[in-house]
Amino acid sequence: MRLILLGPPGAGKGTQAKRLMDRHAIAQLSTGDMLRAAVKDGSEIGQKAKDIMVRGDLVPDDIVIQIVSDRIEADDCSNGFILDGFPRTVAQAEALETMLHQHGLSLDAVVELQVDEEALAARVEKRRAENPGAVRDDDTVEALRHRLTVYREQTAPLISHYRGTGVLRSVDGMKPIDDVAGDIERVLAEARGTDALQQAG
Ligand code: AMP
Repeated sequence: MRLILLGPPGAGKGTQAKRLMDRHAIAQLSTGDMLRAAVKDGSEIGQKAKDIMVRGDLVPDDIVIQIVSDRIEADDCSNGFILDGFPRTVAQAEALETMLHQHGLSLDAVVELQVDEEALAARVEKRRAENPGAVRDDDTVEALRHRLTVYREQTAPLISHYRGTGVLRSVDGMKPIDDVAGDIERVLAEARGTDALQQAG
C-alpha cells in the first residue's frame, strides 16, 4: 500500500502515519523527520535546511525530492509506504509521479486530514505552556502561523490536484486520534475496494 497523508502542520499526520506503519507494516517516510536528522548530524543538507526550517519556510524542492527518491528505493519500502509531509508543492507532486512511474508503482490514496486552523494554534499554545523547552524549535505560535500561510499558498493546491486524479479521500482530523485512525482505515478500504473493482471491470 502506498499513500500520502496531506494536511496542514499540526494536523496529526505524524501520529496517524505511525499508526498506519504499525498496522500495515509499511514504511513511514517523513521528510520533516529526515531533515531534522540531517540538521542534527550537521550534514551538508542539514546545514542548508536548518534556518529555513526554523523560519517555517519550505526547504528547496530539489533537496527534498532527492531525499525521498533515495528512500523510496530502499528495501523497507518494498511493502509500501506512507508519505508524511511530502509532497508539499506541485513540483514535488510531479517529481513523485515521475519517480513512481519509473518504478512501475502507483498511489492507493491521498488522505487529507481536514482541521480547523484556530484550534491548531490553540493546541500549539497548550503544548508550549505544558512543556516549555521540550518542544521543537519551530513549534511556536508565530512559526505555526507562518507555516499555515506557506501551507495555504504552496501545499493546499495539491488538494485539487489530487481530487482531479480521483485519489483524494478527506477525513475530519479534529476528531479524537482513535476516531481519525478508524476513519482513515475506512477510506483506505474504500479506495482499495474501488481500485479492485476497476481492475476487475
Ligand atoms: P514537518 O515535520 O513535516 O512539519 O516539517 C518540518 C519542516 O521541514 C517544514 O516546516 C519545512 O521547513 C521542512 N520540510 C519538511 N518536508 C518538506 C517538504 N516536503 N518540502 C519542503 N520542506 C519540507
